[in-house]
Amino acid sequence: MSAARPKVVIVGAGFAGLAAAKALHRVPVQVTVVDQHDYHTFTPFLYQVATALLEADAAAFPVRGELRRLGNVSFRLATVTGVDLDAKAVDTDRRRLPYDYLVLAAGGVNAYFGHSEIAGRSLGLNDLPEALQLRNAILARLEAAAWASDPAERARLLSFAVVGGGPTGTEFAGALAELITGTLTRDFPDLDRSEVSITLAEASRHPLSVFPQPLPAAADRALRDKGVRVRSEAMVAEVDQTGLRLKDGTTVPAATVVWAAGVRASHLADGLGLRLGSHERIAVTPTLQVDGHPEVFAVGDFAEIRTPDAGQPLPMLAQVAIQSGRQAAGNIGALLRGETPQPFVYKDLGTMATVGRGFAVADMGPVKLTGQAGFLAWLVVHIARIAGMRNRSLVLTNWVSGYLFRNRPVRLIVGPRETDQAQLQGQR
Ligand SMILES: Cc1cc2nc3c(=O)[nH]c(=O)nc-3n(C[C@H](O)[C@H](O)[C@H](O)COP(=O)(O)OP(=O)(O)OC[C@H]3O[C@@H](n4cnc5c(N)ncnc54)[C@H](O)[C@@H]3O)c2cc1C
Repeated sequence: MSAARPKVVIVGAGFAGLAAAKALHRVPVQVTVVDQHDYHTFTPFLYQVATALLEADAAAFPVRGELRRLGNVSFRLATVTGVDLDAKAVDTDRRRLPYDYLVLAAGGVNAYFGHSEIAGRSLGLNDLPEALQLRNAILARLEAAAWASDPAERARLLSFAVVGGGPTGTEFAGALAELITGTLTRDFPDLDRSEVSITLAEASRHPLSVFPQPLPAAADRALRDKGVRVRSEAMVAEVDQTGLRLKDGTTVPAATVVWAAGVRASHLADGLGLRLGSHERIAVTPTLQVDGHPEVFAVGDFAEIRTPDAGQPLPMLAQVAIQSGRQAAGNIGALLRGETPQPFVYKDLGTMATVGRGFAVADMGPVKLTGQAGFLAWLVVHIARIAGMRNRSLVLTNWVSGYLFRNRPVRLIVGPRETDQAQLQGQR
Protein backbone atom coordinates (compact mmCIF):
# COMPACT_ATOMS: atom_id res chain seq x y z
CA MET A 1 0.00 0.00 0.00
CA SER A 2 1.44 3.35 -1.01
CA ALA A 3 2.19 5.71 1.91
CA ALA A 4 1.33 8.63 -0.37
CA ARG A 5 -2.34 7.69 -0.55
CA PRO A 6 -4.67 10.26 1.05
CA LYS A 7 -5.84 9.20 4.53
CA VAL A 8 -9.54 8.76 5.25
CA VAL A 9 -10.67 8.32 8.86
CA ILE A 10 -14.18 6.98 9.46
CA VAL A 11 -15.57 7.48 12.97
CA GLY A 12 -18.05 4.67 13.70
CA ALA A 13 -18.46 1.13 12.39
CA GLY A 14 -22.24 1.25 12.29
CA PHE A 15 -24.39 1.02 9.18
CA ALA A 16 -23.07 4.29 7.74
CA GLY A 17 -19.39 3.82 8.62
CA LEU A 18 -19.20 0.27 7.24
CA ALA A 19 -21.03 1.27 4.05
CA ALA A 20 -18.55 4.13 3.55
CA ALA A 21 -15.55 1.87 4.19
CA LYS A 22 -16.77 -0.75 1.72
CA ALA A 23 -17.49 1.87 -0.93
CA LEU A 24 -13.95 3.28 -0.53
CA HIS A 25 -12.47 -0.14 -1.26
CA ARG A 26 -11.69 0.71 -4.88
CA VAL A 27 -10.77 4.36 -4.26
CA PRO A 28 -6.99 5.08 -4.02
CA VAL A 29 -7.06 6.07 -0.33
CA GLN A 30 -5.90 4.52 2.96
CA VAL A 31 -8.91 4.13 5.27
CA THR A 32 -8.95 3.78 9.07
CA VAL A 33 -12.25 2.91 10.73
CA VAL A 34 -12.37 3.78 14.46
CA ASP A 35 -15.06 2.51 16.82
CA GLN A 36 -15.42 2.23 20.59
CA HIS A 37 -16.56 -1.39 20.11
CA ASP A 38 -14.97 -4.15 18.07
CA TYR A 39 -18.38 -5.23 16.82
CA HIS A 40 -21.12 -3.88 14.56
CA THR A 41 -24.61 -3.98 16.02
CA PHE A 42 -27.59 -5.06 13.93
CA THR A 43 -30.06 -2.88 15.86
CA PRO A 44 -33.31 -4.31 14.40
CA PHE A 45 -32.66 -7.45 16.50
CA LEU A 46 -31.92 -5.69 19.81
CA TYR A 47 -35.47 -6.05 21.13
CA GLN A 48 -35.19 -9.81 20.50
CA VAL A 49 -31.97 -9.91 22.59
CA ALA A 50 -33.72 -7.94 25.36
CA THR A 51 -36.64 -10.39 25.37
CA ALA A 52 -34.48 -13.54 25.45
CA LEU A 53 -35.19 -14.75 21.91
CA LEU A 54 -31.74 -14.16 20.45
CA GLU A 55 -28.21 -14.44 21.83
CA ALA A 56 -26.20 -11.20 21.86
CA ASP A 57 -23.91 -12.45 19.12
CA ALA A 58 -26.87 -12.92 16.77
CA ALA A 59 -27.31 -9.14 16.78
CA ALA A 60 -23.65 -8.27 16.34
CA PHE A 61 -20.64 -9.30 14.31
CA PRO A 62 -16.90 -8.52 14.49
CA VAL A 63 -15.88 -5.41 12.58
CA ARG A 64 -12.46 -6.82 11.76
CA GLY A 65 -14.06 -9.86 10.12
CA GLU A 66 -16.19 -7.55 8.00
CA LEU A 67 -13.26 -5.39 6.88
CA ARG A 68 -10.44 -7.91 6.52
CA ARG A 69 -10.94 -8.50 2.80
CA LEU A 70 -10.73 -4.78 2.02
CA GLY A 71 -7.02 -4.29 1.42
CA ASN A 72 -6.96 -0.52 1.96
CA VAL A 73 -9.10 -0.48 5.13
CA SER A 74 -7.86 -1.01 8.69
CA PHE A 75 -9.64 -0.91 12.05
CA ARG A 76 -8.69 0.73 15.36
CA LEU A 77 -10.57 0.12 18.61
CA ALA A 78 -10.76 3.49 20.41
CA THR A 79 -13.20 6.08 21.68
CA VAL A 80 -13.06 9.28 19.67
CA THR A 81 -12.94 12.22 22.08
CA GLY A 82 -12.79 15.13 19.63
CA VAL A 83 -11.70 16.41 16.25
CA ASP A 84 -9.17 19.18 15.57
CA LEU A 85 -10.71 20.48 12.36
CA ASP A 86 -7.89 22.95 11.69
CA ALA A 87 -5.09 20.42 12.23
CA LYS A 88 -7.15 17.73 10.43
CA ALA A 89 -6.73 15.16 13.21
CA VAL A 90 -9.07 12.91 15.19
CA ASP A 91 -8.40 12.66 18.94
CA THR A 92 -8.99 9.31 20.58
CA ASP A 93 -8.38 7.78 24.00
CA ARG A 94 -5.37 6.05 22.39
CA ARG A 95 -3.69 8.62 20.16
CA ARG A 96 -4.24 11.15 17.39
CA LEU A 97 -5.13 10.07 13.87
CA PRO A 98 -4.38 12.58 11.09
CA TYR A 99 -6.70 12.64 8.09
CA ASP A 100 -7.10 14.19 4.66
CA TYR A 101 -10.80 13.30 4.58
CA LEU A 102 -13.04 12.56 7.56
CA VAL A 103 -16.36 10.70 7.68
CA LEU A 104 -18.27 11.28 10.92
CA ALA A 105 -20.63 8.32 11.42
CA ALA A 106 -20.89 8.08 15.22
CA GLY A 107 -24.64 7.31 15.25
CA GLY A 108 -27.08 8.12 18.02
CA VAL A 109 -27.79 7.65 21.73
CA ASN A 110 -30.93 7.88 23.90
CA ALA A 111 -32.37 11.40 24.14
CA TYR A 112 -33.87 12.57 27.45
CA PHE A 113 -34.95 16.05 26.28
CA GLY A 114 -33.19 17.92 29.09
CA HIS A 115 -34.26 15.45 31.81
CA SER A 116 -30.93 13.71 32.33
CA GLU A 117 -32.18 12.20 35.63
CA ILE A 118 -34.39 9.86 33.57
CA ALA A 119 -31.25 8.05 32.37
CA GLY A 120 -30.63 6.81 35.91
CA ARG A 121 -34.26 5.82 36.47
CA SER A 122 -34.92 3.91 33.27
CA LEU A 123 -33.36 1.35 30.98
CA GLY A 124 -32.61 2.01 27.31
CA LEU A 125 -32.57 -0.19 24.22
CA ASN A 126 -30.14 1.61 21.98
CA ASP A 127 -27.17 -0.75 21.96
CA LEU A 128 -26.13 -4.29 22.86
CA PRO A 129 -25.08 -3.66 26.50
CA GLU A 130 -28.45 -1.92 27.08
CA ALA A 131 -30.35 -4.85 25.54
CA LEU A 132 -28.54 -7.30 27.84
CA GLN A 133 -29.11 -5.08 30.87
CA LEU A 134 -32.79 -4.97 30.02
CA ARG A 135 -33.01 -8.75 29.67
CA ASN A 136 -31.33 -9.13 33.08
CA ALA A 137 -33.71 -6.61 34.64
CA ILE A 138 -36.87 -8.30 33.31
CA LEU A 139 -35.80 -11.73 34.53
CA ALA A 140 -34.52 -10.37 37.86
CA ARG A 141 -37.90 -8.68 38.49
CA LEU A 142 -39.67 -12.00 37.92
CA GLU A 143 -37.26 -13.79 40.29
CA ALA A 144 -37.78 -11.08 42.93
CA ALA A 145 -41.55 -11.37 42.56
CA ALA A 146 -41.26 -15.12 43.23
CA TRP A 147 -39.90 -14.22 46.70
CA ALA A 148 -42.41 -11.46 47.42
CA SER A 149 -45.09 -12.40 49.96
CA ASP A 150 -46.75 -8.98 50.00
CA PRO A 151 -49.23 -8.82 47.05
CA ALA A 152 -48.65 -5.07 46.63
CA GLU A 153 -44.89 -5.59 46.35
CA ARG A 154 -45.44 -8.46 43.94
CA ALA A 155 -47.68 -6.25 41.77
CA ARG A 156 -45.04 -3.50 41.84
CA LEU A 157 -42.28 -5.86 40.74
CA LEU A 158 -44.43 -7.20 37.91
CA SER A 159 -45.24 -3.77 36.47
CA PHE A 160 -43.42 -2.59 33.34
CA ALA A 161 -43.76 0.72 31.51
CA VAL A 162 -42.38 1.45 28.06
CA VAL A 163 -42.12 5.13 27.16
CA GLY A 164 -42.34 5.85 23.44
CA GLY A 165 -44.47 4.04 20.88
CA GLY A 166 -42.07 4.38 17.96
CA PRO A 167 -40.78 1.19 16.31
CA THR A 168 -38.36 0.42 19.19
CA GLY A 169 -40.93 0.80 21.99
CA THR A 170 -43.70 -0.96 20.07
CA GLU A 171 -41.59 -3.95 19.02
CA PHE A 172 -40.22 -4.32 22.53
CA ALA A 173 -43.64 -4.05 24.25
CA GLY A 174 -45.15 -6.70 21.95
CA ALA A 175 -42.22 -9.06 22.47
CA LEU A 176 -42.20 -8.53 26.26
CA ALA A 177 -45.90 -9.45 26.43
CA GLU A 178 -45.14 -12.66 24.52
CA LEU A 179 -42.09 -13.49 26.65
CA ILE A 180 -44.27 -13.31 29.75
CA THR A 181 -47.41 -14.96 28.37
CA GLY A 182 -45.79 -17.64 26.26
CA THR A 183 -42.71 -18.57 28.24
CA LEU A 184 -42.34 -17.11 31.72
CA THR A 185 -45.79 -18.20 32.89
CA ARG A 186 -44.52 -21.76 32.21
CA ASP A 187 -41.18 -21.14 33.98
CA PHE A 188 -42.82 -19.59 37.04
CA PRO A 189 -45.69 -21.89 38.11
CA ASP A 190 -47.02 -19.28 40.58
CA LEU A 191 -47.16 -16.54 37.98
CA ASP A 192 -50.54 -15.52 36.65
CA ARG A 193 -50.45 -13.40 33.48
CA SER A 194 -53.08 -11.08 34.92
CA GLU A 195 -50.63 -10.08 37.66
CA VAL A 196 -48.24 -8.59 35.11
CA SER A 197 -48.89 -5.13 33.75
CA ILE A 198 -47.18 -3.78 30.65
CA THR A 199 -48.01 -0.18 29.74
CA LEU A 200 -46.91 1.56 26.57
CA ALA A 201 -47.04 5.35 26.94
CA GLU A 202 -47.18 7.12 23.60
CA ALA A 203 -47.56 10.85 22.98
CA SER A 204 -49.58 10.42 19.75
CA ARG A 205 -52.99 8.90 19.21
CA HIS A 206 -51.55 5.50 18.26
CA PRO A 207 -48.18 3.77 18.48
CA LEU A 208 -46.13 3.74 15.25
CA SER A 209 -47.55 7.15 14.33
CA VAL A 210 -44.73 7.66 11.80
CA PHE A 211 -46.43 5.01 9.64
CA PRO A 212 -49.44 5.98 7.49
CA GLN A 213 -52.92 4.89 8.58
CA PRO A 214 -54.33 2.27 8.87
CA LEU A 215 -51.01 0.76 10.06
CA PRO A 216 -50.81 2.58 13.46
CA ALA A 217 -54.41 1.66 14.33
CA ALA A 218 -53.70 -1.99 13.42
CA ALA A 219 -50.54 -2.01 15.56
CA ASP A 220 -52.49 -0.49 18.44
CA ARG A 221 -55.10 -3.28 18.27
CA ALA A 222 -52.40 -5.96 18.02
CA LEU A 223 -50.68 -4.64 21.17
CA ARG A 224 -53.95 -4.52 23.11
CA ASP A 225 -54.74 -8.10 21.97
CA LYS A 226 -51.46 -9.16 23.56
CA GLY A 227 -52.46 -7.52 26.84
CA VAL A 228 -50.36 -4.36 26.52
CA ARG A 229 -52.11 -1.31 28.02
CA VAL A 230 -51.66 1.40 25.43
CA ARG A 231 -51.83 4.90 26.96
CA SER A 232 -52.20 7.15 23.94
CA GLU A 233 -51.68 10.93 24.00
CA ALA A 234 -49.67 10.33 27.17
CA MET A 235 -46.90 12.86 27.80
CA VAL A 236 -44.44 11.75 30.49
CA ALA A 237 -43.59 14.53 32.97
CA GLU A 238 -41.42 12.55 35.37
CA VAL A 239 -39.91 9.12 35.97
CA ASP A 240 -39.27 8.12 39.58
CA GLN A 241 -38.91 5.00 41.74
CA THR A 242 -42.66 4.34 41.55
CA GLY A 243 -42.98 4.62 37.77
CA LEU A 244 -44.29 7.38 35.48
CA ARG A 245 -46.09 10.62 36.23
CA LEU A 246 -47.91 11.90 33.17
CA LYS A 247 -48.53 15.55 32.30
CA ASP A 248 -52.28 15.09 32.85
CA GLY A 249 -51.49 14.29 36.50
CA THR A 250 -52.14 10.52 36.31
CA THR A 251 -49.51 7.95 37.22
CA VAL A 252 -48.40 4.62 35.78
CA PRO A 253 -46.88 2.35 38.46
CA ALA A 254 -43.79 0.55 37.15
CA ALA A 255 -40.79 -1.09 38.79
CA THR A 256 -39.14 -1.24 35.38
CA VAL A 257 -39.26 1.73 33.02
CA VAL A 258 -37.94 1.33 29.49
CA TRP A 259 -37.10 4.60 27.76
CA ALA A 260 -37.66 4.41 24.01
CA ALA A 261 -38.89 7.98 23.55
CA GLY A 262 -36.17 9.46 21.44
CA VAL A 263 -32.71 9.40 19.95
CA ARG A 264 -30.16 12.16 19.45
CA ALA A 265 -26.73 12.22 17.84
CA SER A 266 -23.82 10.70 19.80
CA HIS A 267 -22.44 13.17 22.40
CA LEU A 268 -19.31 13.51 20.26
CA ALA A 269 -21.36 16.01 18.20
CA ASP A 270 -21.59 18.44 21.14
CA GLY A 271 -17.90 19.31 21.29
CA LEU A 272 -16.99 19.62 17.61
CA GLY A 273 -17.92 23.28 17.21
CA LEU A 274 -20.01 22.41 14.14
CA ARG A 275 -23.54 23.65 13.43
CA LEU A 276 -26.12 21.32 14.97
CA GLY A 277 -29.62 20.63 13.67
CA SER A 278 -32.55 18.74 15.17
CA HIS A 279 -31.70 15.95 17.63
CA GLU A 280 -28.25 17.57 18.04
CA ARG A 281 -27.23 16.11 14.68
CA ILE A 282 -24.48 17.73 12.61
CA ALA A 283 -26.06 19.91 9.91
CA VAL A 284 -24.68 19.00 6.49
CA THR A 285 -24.90 20.37 2.97
CA PRO A 286 -26.84 18.37 0.33
CA THR A 287 -23.47 16.76 -0.56
CA LEU A 288 -23.11 15.62 3.11
CA GLN A 289 -20.18 17.98 3.81
CA VAL A 290 -20.01 20.23 6.88
CA ASP A 291 -19.97 24.03 6.58
CA GLY A 292 -16.48 25.44 6.00
CA HIS A 293 -14.79 22.02 5.89
CA PRO A 294 -15.35 20.35 2.51
CA GLU A 295 -13.01 17.50 3.54
CA VAL A 296 -15.36 16.54 6.41
CA PHE A 297 -18.54 14.51 5.84
CA ALA A 298 -21.23 13.58 8.37
CA VAL A 299 -23.60 10.70 7.67
CA GLY A 300 -26.23 8.39 9.19
CA ASP A 301 -27.85 9.17 12.55
CA PHE A 302 -25.00 11.56 13.35
CA ALA A 303 -26.05 13.96 10.57
CA GLU A 304 -29.12 16.04 9.90
CA ILE A 305 -29.56 15.36 6.20
CA ARG A 306 -32.04 17.42 4.23
CA THR A 307 -32.30 16.27 0.66
CA PRO A 308 -33.17 18.77 -2.08
CA ASP A 309 -36.32 16.82 -2.95
CA ALA A 310 -37.50 15.97 0.59
CA GLY A 311 -36.79 19.27 2.36
CA GLN A 312 -37.50 17.74 5.79
CA PRO A 313 -34.61 16.09 7.69
CA LEU A 314 -34.43 12.40 6.86
CA PRO A 315 -35.35 9.96 9.67
CA MET A 316 -32.75 8.09 11.70
CA LEU A 317 -32.96 4.79 9.83
CA ALA A 318 -30.49 2.12 8.74
CA GLN A 319 -31.17 2.69 5.03
CA VAL A 320 -30.51 6.43 5.34
CA ALA A 321 -27.23 5.56 7.10
CA ILE A 322 -26.15 2.98 4.51
CA GLN A 323 -27.01 5.14 1.51
CA SER A 324 -25.46 8.32 2.98
CA GLY A 325 -22.28 6.42 3.93
CA ARG A 326 -21.94 5.23 0.34
CA GLN A 327 -22.60 8.72 -0.99
CA ALA A 328 -19.90 10.27 1.25
CA ALA A 329 -17.44 7.70 -0.09
CA GLY A 330 -18.47 8.49 -3.65
CA ASN A 331 -18.01 12.20 -3.01
CA ILE A 332 -14.52 11.66 -1.56
CA GLY A 333 -13.69 9.81 -4.80
CA ALA A 334 -15.12 12.75 -6.78
CA LEU A 335 -13.00 15.29 -4.86
CA LEU A 336 -9.88 13.19 -5.48
CA ARG A 337 -10.61 13.19 -9.21
CA GLY A 338 -11.18 16.95 -9.17
CA GLU A 339 -14.90 16.52 -9.81
CA THR A 340 -17.87 18.17 -8.08
CA PRO A 341 -19.42 16.19 -5.20
CA GLN A 342 -23.00 15.12 -5.89
CA PRO A 343 -26.05 15.83 -3.68
CA PHE A 344 -27.45 12.91 -1.73
CA VAL A 345 -30.73 11.50 -3.02
CA TYR A 346 -32.39 9.06 -0.61
CA LYS A 347 -34.15 6.04 -2.07
CA ASP A 348 -36.90 5.01 0.36
CA LEU A 349 -37.03 1.21 0.41
CA GLY A 350 -39.86 1.15 2.96
CA THR A 351 -40.15 0.71 6.72
CA MET A 352 -41.45 -2.12 8.88
CA ALA A 353 -42.09 -2.97 12.53
CA THR A 354 -43.24 -6.13 14.27
CA VAL A 355 -45.78 -6.42 17.06
CA GLY A 356 -44.78 -9.82 18.40
CA ARG A 357 -44.89 -13.17 16.73
CA GLY A 358 -46.74 -13.29 13.42
CA PHE A 359 -47.73 -9.61 13.22
CA ALA A 360 -45.97 -6.72 11.54
CA VAL A 361 -46.78 -3.55 9.69
CA ALA A 362 -44.90 -2.77 6.48
CA ASP A 363 -45.03 0.47 4.52
CA MET A 364 -43.49 -0.11 1.11
CA GLY A 365 -44.66 2.78 -1.04
CA PRO A 366 -48.05 1.88 -2.51
CA VAL A 367 -47.99 -1.49 -0.69
CA LYS A 368 -49.12 -1.36 2.96
CA LEU A 369 -49.26 -4.65 4.84
CA THR A 370 -50.41 -5.61 8.32
CA GLY A 371 -50.69 -8.86 10.28
CA GLN A 372 -49.20 -12.06 8.92
CA ALA A 373 -48.59 -10.62 5.45
CA GLY A 374 -46.56 -7.82 7.05
CA PHE A 375 -44.72 -10.36 9.19
CA LEU A 376 -43.80 -12.46 6.13
CA ALA A 377 -42.43 -9.34 4.41
CA TRP A 378 -40.47 -8.48 7.59
CA LEU A 379 -39.06 -12.05 7.72
CA VAL A 380 -37.92 -12.05 4.09
CA VAL A 381 -36.22 -8.65 4.37
CA HIS A 382 -34.49 -9.42 7.67
CA ILE A 383 -33.32 -12.94 6.80
CA ALA A 384 -31.64 -11.42 3.74
CA ARG A 385 -29.88 -8.84 5.94
CA ILE A 386 -28.37 -11.25 8.49
CA ALA A 387 -24.63 -11.31 7.90
CA GLY A 388 -22.93 -14.71 7.56
CA MET A 389 -24.08 -18.33 7.53
CA ARG A 390 -23.48 -18.87 11.25
CA ASN A 391 -25.61 -15.92 12.34
CA ARG A 392 -28.29 -16.79 9.83
CA SER A 393 -28.64 -20.37 11.10
CA LEU A 394 -28.49 -19.20 14.74
CA VAL A 395 -31.24 -16.66 14.21
CA LEU A 396 -33.42 -18.98 12.12
CA THR A 397 -33.18 -21.79 14.68
CA ASN A 398 -34.28 -19.46 17.48
CA TRP A 399 -37.05 -17.91 15.39
CA VAL A 400 -38.47 -21.32 14.42
CA SER A 401 -38.39 -22.58 18.00
CA GLY A 402 -39.85 -19.27 19.21
CA TYR A 403 -42.60 -19.34 16.61
CA LEU A 404 -43.56 -23.00 16.94
CA PHE A 405 -42.97 -23.64 20.65
CA ARG A 406 -43.07 -20.11 22.12
CA ASN A 407 -39.57 -20.81 23.33
CA ARG A 408 -37.30 -17.93 24.40
CA PRO A 409 -34.04 -19.83 24.86
CA VAL A 410 -31.82 -17.09 26.30
CA ARG A 411 -33.61 -16.65 29.64
CA LEU A 412 -30.40 -16.00 31.53
CA ILE A 413 -29.48 -13.35 34.07
CA VAL A 414 -25.84 -12.69 33.25
CA GLY A 415 -24.16 -9.90 35.18
CA PRO A 416 -22.49 -8.90 38.41
CA ARG A 417 -24.32 -9.94 41.57
CA GLU A 418 -24.40 -6.33 42.88
CA THR A 419 -26.35 -5.30 39.77
CA ASP A 420 -28.82 -8.10 40.32
CA GLN A 421 -29.24 -7.06 43.92
CA ALA A 422 -29.85 -3.45 42.95
CA GLN A 423 -32.41 -4.53 40.38
CA LEU A 424 -34.14 -6.83 42.83
CA GLN A 425 -34.45 -3.93 45.26
CA GLY A 426 -35.92 -1.73 42.55
CA GLN A 427 -32.96 0.67 42.53
CA ARG A 428 -32.36 1.76 38.99
C1 LIG B 1 -33.52 -0.88 18.98
C2 LIG B 1 -33.39 -0.25 17.62
C3 LIG B 1 -34.02 -0.84 16.54
C4 LIG B 1 -33.91 -0.27 15.28
N1 LIG B 1 -34.56 -0.88 14.24
C5 LIG B 1 -34.44 -0.35 13.01
C6 LIG B 1 -35.08 -0.99 11.91
O1 LIG B 1 -35.75 -2.01 12.05
N2 LIG B 1 -34.92 -0.42 10.67
C7 LIG B 1 -34.17 0.73 10.48
O2 LIG B 1 -34.04 1.20 9.36
N3 LIG B 1 -33.58 1.33 11.51
C8 LIG B 1 -33.68 0.83 12.77
N4 LIG B 1 -33.07 1.45 13.80
C9 LIG B 1 -32.30 2.68 13.55
C10 LIG B 1 -30.92 2.31 13.03
O3 LIG B 1 -30.31 1.42 13.92
C11 LIG B 1 -30.03 3.54 12.88
O4 LIG B 1 -30.65 4.46 12.03
C12 LIG B 1 -28.68 3.16 12.35
O5 LIG B 1 -28.01 2.32 13.27
C13 LIG B 1 -27.81 4.39 12.08
O6 LIG B 1 -26.58 3.95 11.61
P1 LIG B 1 -25.28 4.77 11.93
O7 LIG B 1 -24.16 4.09 11.22
O8 LIG B 1 -25.51 6.21 11.67
O9 LIG B 1 -25.10 4.65 13.50
P2 LIG B 1 -24.84 3.35 14.36
O10 LIG B 1 -25.29 2.14 13.67
O11 LIG B 1 -25.43 3.68 15.70
O12 LIG B 1 -23.27 3.28 14.49
C14 LIG B 1 -22.53 4.27 15.15
C15 LIG B 1 -21.22 3.67 15.58
O13 LIG B 1 -20.40 4.71 16.10
C16 LIG B 1 -19.73 4.26 17.24
N5 LIG B 1 -19.42 5.40 18.08
C17 LIG B 1 -20.27 6.31 18.61
N6 LIG B 1 -19.58 7.25 19.28
C18 LIG B 1 -18.27 6.93 19.19
C19 LIG B 1 -17.06 7.51 19.69
N7 LIG B 1 -17.08 8.64 20.41
N8 LIG B 1 -15.90 6.89 19.41
C20 LIG B 1 -15.86 5.76 18.66
N9 LIG B 1 -16.96 5.18 18.16
C21 LIG B 1 -18.15 5.77 18.42
C22 LIG B 1 -20.73 3.31 17.90
O14 LIG B 1 -20.07 2.39 18.74
C23 LIG B 1 -21.37 2.64 16.69
O15 LIG B 1 -20.70 1.46 16.33
C24 LIG B 1 -33.16 0.91 15.09
C25 LIG B 1 -32.49 1.48 16.16
C26 LIG B 1 -32.61 0.92 17.43
C27 LIG B 1 -31.89 1.54 18.59
